[in-house]
Amino acid sequence: MSIVRSTLIVACAALFVLSASIADAQNRPPQAGGASDCQRALADRFDSLDVNTLDQDTVDAIVLLREEEKLARDVYLTLSWWYDLPIFPNIAKSEQQHMNLVAMLLDRYGIPDPAAGNGIGVFTDPWVQDLFDDLVASGAQSVVDALFAGAKIEDVDIYHLKHILDHSDFDDVNLIVQNMVAGSRNHMRGFVGALVRRDETYTAEFISQAELDAILASPMETGVIYDENGDVLAECGRASTR
Ligand code: ZN
Ligand code: ZN
Repeated sequence: MSIVRSTLIVACAALFVLSASIADAQNRPPQAGGASDCQRALADRFDSLDVNTLDQDTVDAIVLLREEEKLARDVYLTLSWWYDLPIFPNIAKSEQQHMNLVAMLLDRYGIPDPAAGNGIGVFTDPWVQDLFDDLVASGAQSVVDALFAGAKIEDVDIYHLKHILDHSDFDDVNLIVQNMVAGSRNHMRGFVGALVRRDETYTAEFISQAELDAILASPMETGVIYDENGDVLAECGRASTR
């Protein structure tokens, strides 16, 4: 087994565990197991897909994505130090796994890592740095502001992930992105659900409100891996409420 492949399996395992823990935090039944089938399915799929010649727009999008996932991780880590709410550390771990998934693409294509050597809260892209600074400043004000910061991060993330899917014909890129955007939808459901329980409403800023409403009206996507077209590739024990 290659290092890349085993890293992907570890990343996928953590994704599964974390989506299950987010579901648990919302009082849903735990997963029935079988995660390894999903991990193997995603790793096999990634290995089976052609190595492409990426255009510069896709390379740029992957580089931005790497830092956006780091932004999400670093904001949630910071918020987890301030607020005793499981959603922040749980999703921070999920964002680490998203960073790892993007790193698979950086490695496959020899793209320099924009996050290399940068500590928590430090970014190469000035736009990402400004966004981090703003989100942490607003999240510092109250737990509700912190949850709004989380929803905004997922809003940006879903917007950029969908932009990649709309423009990329590269199956290996799309495979990773399809599974990341599913994770982001779960995170969005988690943050908005926590806001709703506090009588607060999040309004979409980057994706359309209709898109946000559709995400919120659909169930958590746990125990499922998608292929590069967004079709279900493997199931590994869904919540019994589905
Ligand atoms: Zn993410
Ligand atoms: Zn996220």
